[in-house]
Amino acid sequence: MSITEWVFSGGIFFAGIVLLYLVLKTDNDPVHPVVESAPEKKEKMPCILCGSRLYRGENVSSKIIKTDGDTIVHVYGCPNCYGPTGNVLKKCPICDTILKNEAFITGRMWDRAGGKKHLHILGCETCRHGRNKKRPL
Ligand SMILES: [Zn+2]
Ligand SMILES: [Zn+2]
Repeated sequence: MSITEWVFSGGIFFAGIVLLYLVLKTDNDPVHPVVESAPEKKEKMPCILCGSRLYRGENVSSKIIKTDGDTIVHVYGCPNCYGPTGNVLKKCPICDTILKNEAFITGRMWDRAGGKKHLHILGCETCRHGRNKKRPL
């Protein structure tokens, strides 16, 4: 229960989310290269799912789902634990369930004062909907 809240500001992880979001947007909005405009911190966030340290160019794959008043994020993992190159075991940070390569965990993201992005990890499919339901969400 300790790694439930992640605060990050314009780091590689969020840059990856922004890129994915821009890619997913299919309307005709002009796409601005916002990635470099964020105040970038050089410290590397370890992957939430497998704990691998991430280096430049290694983004955590995630998908943003906008709902009413909420930004839900599905986090799939980094290149070390997700996709064709993923061979590191990944676990849910909430319930420690071992996750399949293609599985994801769900979080909720919002903006904080000062422009920081805040991601609150809700958990994986097992602990959110399974028998070990700990949280009302
Ligand atoms: Zn990973
Ligand atoms: Zn879980």
